[in-house]
Amino acid sequence: MVMRKLEGCVFCSVENLEGEYIVYHDEDVIAFLDIYPVSRGHTLVAPREHYETIFEVPDDVLCKLIVVTKRVANAVRRALKPDGVRIVQNNGRAAGQVIFHLHFHVIPFYEGVHRGRRRLEEREGLELQRLLSEDLGYEA
Ligand SMILES: [Zn+2]
Repeated sequence: MVMRKLEGCVFCSVENLEGEYIVYHDEDVIAFLDIYPVSRGHTLVAPREHYETIFEVPDDVLCKLIVVTKRVANAVRRALKPDGVRIVQNNGRAAGQVIFHLHFHVIPFYEGVHRGRRRLEEREGLELQRLLSEDLGYEA
């Protein structure tokens, strides 16, 4: 089977990029830390094939994607003990989509902690990758 990939799409090649913190992947879905996290543990979950938005993705792939999103959210909850977890998915620039390859955001929230987006530091990235991939049973 040939994978549907879009040349130049950063999420199509995320598994081959240096400095990406992958916490899980299987044949259909990949999860990795957002390199500009809103909060500690902000993770993205995407199909390995290229679909621009939720409107293009086949239902069976979407089902796999949301199940992994739930598992990632659970891993974040267990490993990082946030007070809440937001799951969002943006379609189109006007809705806040920045990378035009479908993905879900898993964003933990910690009461009393407000952090703007900043670049993930390597030490924290490796620590979070270890914590989350261990919980997900993924060998990073
Ligand atoms: Zn892509």
